[in-house]
Amino acid sequence: MAAPAHIIVVEDEATQREVLVEYLSRQGFRVSGADSGPALRRLTERELPSLVLLDVGLPDGEDGFALARWLRERSARVGIIMVTTATDMVDRVVGLETGADDYIPKPFEPRELLARIKSLLRRIAASAGANAATPSTGRLRVGRCVLDLDRRILIDPTSGGETRLTASEFDLLKVFAENPNRPLMRDWLMEVTAHRDMEALDRSIDLRVARLRRKIEADPAYPTAIRTVRSVGYMFVPPTD
Ligand code: CA
Repeated sequence: MAAPAHIIVVEDEATQREVLVEYLSRQGFRVSGADSGPALRRLTERELPSLVLLDVGLPDGEDGFALARWLRERSARVGIIMVTTATDMVDRVVGLETGADDYIPKPFEPRELLARIKSLLRRIAASAGANAATPSTGRLRVGRCVLDLDRRILIDPTSGGETRLTASEFDLLKVFAENPNRPLMRDWLMEVTAHRDMEALDRSIDLRVARLRRKIEADPAYPTAIRTVRSVGYMFVPPTD
């Protein structure tokens, strides 16, 4: 059997936190409680959890939105569910801008929360499976093209024409392909692709994305493969047909 998923419950109100920790533990998860941003940071120092349940209203200036952004900068894979109140004025857009995967308004039924947690963990597992299945050699479909991972070129399947990629373009495209359907933050993209050459350092992610779009999108003016996620960065959407 797989190890139970580790969930961190960030909630400053002690009773609410304990109720959630106890409830989720009874559902078979490994659960830790954190009452603040600093407590969350301590808990995630050694190991990132599978999922974080993040109360928006936290004391001391650092709210759940800030912590969601911080978590997302560290990992594209950790699941984030925001726990909101009516006054948080949260909507889907805000959730996406912070990099959160989902949100649930207080008060909520424990079963509703459990359903969302399970659904998100399934999505993460499916995406990890897709990542594991992403070959480091061979060919991948990206936009209207096929990426040849060995020769580091793009192939136009219609004409058979080949397009060269610079090292930093190839790195960025590979990171996109390995993290499909997830909003990826600019800073994170910069960090994971900045090791190779000077071009990666002096060209912003936006410029590199624009160049990639000209190479892989059917219509670069209306990109569908590398989509813009407002205030966050970009999301790669693999071809579905
Ligand atoms: Ca609170």
